[in-house]
Amino acid sequence: MSGRLAGAVLVLNCGSSSLKYRLFDGADTLAHGLVERIGEPGGDAADHGAALGSVLSTLDLTGLAAVGHRVVHGGPDFSAPAVVDDAVVDAVRRLIPLAPLHNPANLAGIEVARRLLPNVPQVAVFDTAFHATMPEATATYAIDVEVARRLRVRKYGFHGTSHAYVSRCAATLLGRPPAEVNVITLHLGNGASACAVHGGRSIATTMGMTPLPGLVMGTRSGDIDPAVVFHLHRVGGMSIDEIDNLLNRDGGLRGLAGENDMRAVLRRRSEGDAAATLAFDVYCTRIKQYVGAYLALLGRLDAIAFTAGVGENAPVVRAAALAGLAGLGIAVDPDRNARAEPVISPPGSPVTVCVIPTDEEFEIAEQTRHALA
Ligand code: ADP
Repeated sequence: MSGRLAGAVLVLNCGSSSLKYRLFDGADTLAHGLVERIGEPGGDAADHGAALGSVLSTLDLTGLAAVGHRVVHGGPDFSAPAVVDDAVVDAVRRLIPLAPLHNPANLAGIEVARRLLPNVPQVAVFDTAFHATMPEATATYAIDVEVARRLRVRKYGFHGTSHAYVSRCAATLLGRPPAEVNVITLHLGNGASACAVHGGRSIATTMGMTPLPGLVMGTRSGDIDPAVVFHLHRVGGMSIDEIDNLLNRDGGLRGLAGENDMRAVLRRRSEGDAAATLAFDVYCTRIKQYVGAYLALLGRLDAIAFTAGVGENAPVVRAAALAGLAGLGIAVDPDRNARAEPVISPPGSPVTVCVIPTDEEFEIAEQTRHALA
């Protein structure tokens, strides 16, 4: 996807208390930064409006052609980036119940940017949109169809801009058009998800209606028997909010090893710490399970791409997650893996395993240009 819209693009990623920005001219970054602890005592700004106001005052905005916003949840409404108008703002607001932690901040960013830059077109780029191509067979939960329809309960998936970008880079690495390549992308950051990409289109992903299921994450449990929730409530006396915390904020690596940072888990594991070792094993085994599942869904696999903080920086995780899969054509070369060369599988492997740094902001800028072109 090449940009046809001339001029600079400002990419905004608003969290509940943060604002990340990057100003692009084509592929070049002109400026970037982060405003933190918005609205908190001693923070950098009182609200998102003040934060963006101070960011804009430091930037040279001559030639600014567009603002691209990261929006986490596009629900069933958005299968592509959307040029922002009042209807899009209303739709993002109606999706807040599906993403109560993320969409309000994303919406605040859009509203503030529209107010401060009224003559610049704005585009909302959704984390879910790339997965809109998932067939019903992987997107549907097996529950009462009427309940699911009314409450919009289905698999949406997240990290879409990253999976889109990384799968396209993997095709480039193979020297083939994305439409001819099947890739499993493994986005392993604080949040983590896997995606089966068939000819450039997502056909399955590990996150669901929310970003909770699938892989083990920094603080999220990933997959769990949903009846555990009933048990924790009925037998353990925990409230829904307490269970929400247990699974979303105190789960994952934090739940198993007491810390959410993979670097600390790896250090303790190398010192023989039992909890850290189990956390590592659960983390890597979960990835391997999905590699096998997605190999089956794809039918033919050309590449596996590791990305994000853990995927790009932890050779030991990459090696363990794919250990023992030589019979499936999947292998990791220890030297290449240690050097994090783009290709880490041995020469001639049926499946090319690679490490590709993700760049969600660049992808948002590209999609913003594309939406306006
Ligand atoms: P986010 O999902 O917030 O964008 P990142 O993609 O930056 O996060 O990933 C952050 C995580 O990456 C950290 O929590 C840490 O566990 C992991 N990480 C970063 N560097 C390393 C490293 N050298 N080795 C292992 N894990 C790392």
